[in-house]
Amino acid sequence: MKKTLILCAALLFGAVTFAQEKGTPAAVNKKADENSTETKKSDRISVYTNDFTYTPYSPTFKTDGTTKKIKNVILMIGDGMGMAQAVAGYYANGNDLAILKLKNMGYVRTYSASAFTTDSAASGTTYACGVKTTNGFIGTTPDSIPAPNLPEKISDKGFATGIVTTDNISGATPYVFYAHSASRKATKEILEQMAGSKLDFFAGGCVTLWNKYAPEEINKLAKADWTIINNYKEIDKNISAKRLGIIAYDKDINPIMSGRGDFLPSTTKDAIKYLSQKSKKGFFMMVEGAQIDWGSHNNDTKYVVTEVIDFDKAVSEALRFADENGETLVIITADHETGGMTMPDGSYAKKMIKGAFTTSGHSGIMVPVYAYGPYSQMFRGVQENIDVHAKIIEILSKVK
Ligand SMILES: [Zn+2]
Repeated sequence: MKKTLILCAALLFGAVTFAQEKGTPAAVNKKADENSTETKKSDRISVYTNDFTYTPYSPTFKTDGTTKKIKNVILMIGDGMGMAQAVAGYYANGNDLAILKLKNMGYVRTYSASAFTTDSAASGTTYACGVKTTNGFIGTTPDSIPAPNLPEKISDKGFATGIVTTDNISGATPYVFYAHSASRKATKEILEQMAGSKLDFFAGGCVTLWNKYAPEEINKLAKADWTIINNYKEIDKNISAKRLGIIAYDKDINPIMSGRGDFLPSTTKDAIKYLSQKSKKGFFMMVEGAQIDWGSHNNDTKYVVTEVIDFDKAVSEALRFADENGETLVIITADHETGGMTMPDGSYAKKMIKGAFTTSGHSGIMVPVYAYGPYSQMFRGVQENIDVHAKIIEILSKVK
């Protein structure tokens, strides 16, 4: 019963999320027509006072911005994370986040082939496959022709590849790294493409999703050399698996404020361990903090802040590994901004954020990109999301 309730809630939430993906241009235009300096009350304001502080990792900067040897690339996507979301997390965590310690940073233009304001499917496809496409399309060109994704482009060269997400593994951002479809909503078709994908590792939701849409696919995964587990804390025990998939328990991809725990930072750390022992050549991994987007769609400052801080914990794990390893580039960015968020007020002392939102959809504002490690200087300045993909390919081509 409990599982059924969780599934219903997840499906309902998914439906709301997809509906919101379309954005609300009318509301945005109405706002734009108003006096831009106004401080009138709005129903899109939500206040959150943070009651905890975590200590982010402080990078050494020894390999930052060098052109030394490179081996691994970790791309971390805070879904919907614009400047305001990142800064809200920073203020609420006592003016401290790992992301905002980094020195090489720039901005990314995110528009899609079909719209000023992209969705996660189109922008994710650009990061994964290096093509601009139509909103809603997954790993294809605007003509619906499959475009090879990063794992497909590099696995034959000896790289290990993996993805980690706090979304369902059929969510748009993870999906673009292993499958192709002209519809992001084709859940069964999406899950059926995992077994034959080039990935070596995946972690995301969830048990109920797979049982509902593709229970038979779990057997096919086993036949395709996948070891499938549900408990993310057992990655270590399965570190020598040929390919490793974590179909997470539903509770482990709940919002942080509903008890997700340390799924994202813990799985990021263990996925790095798995992938680095998997290939001597190197690895590419995508890590998604999916629910920054969901909190922003909901215009909920608490949801946004708690997800940004959790994402930053995962960033800390990646930066710590980058320092230990010395040959790893970490790129942190977003697929788009969500909510048109800003902060008209707050309190540094109280760790209080007054978040204000202009839409329940996405916005077309540029998103920040932060990079750390060898070749991180390549991500300075203003760039297209399509350039981020091209730079990753160029950097991985330097791996001996
Ligand atoms: Zn969204």
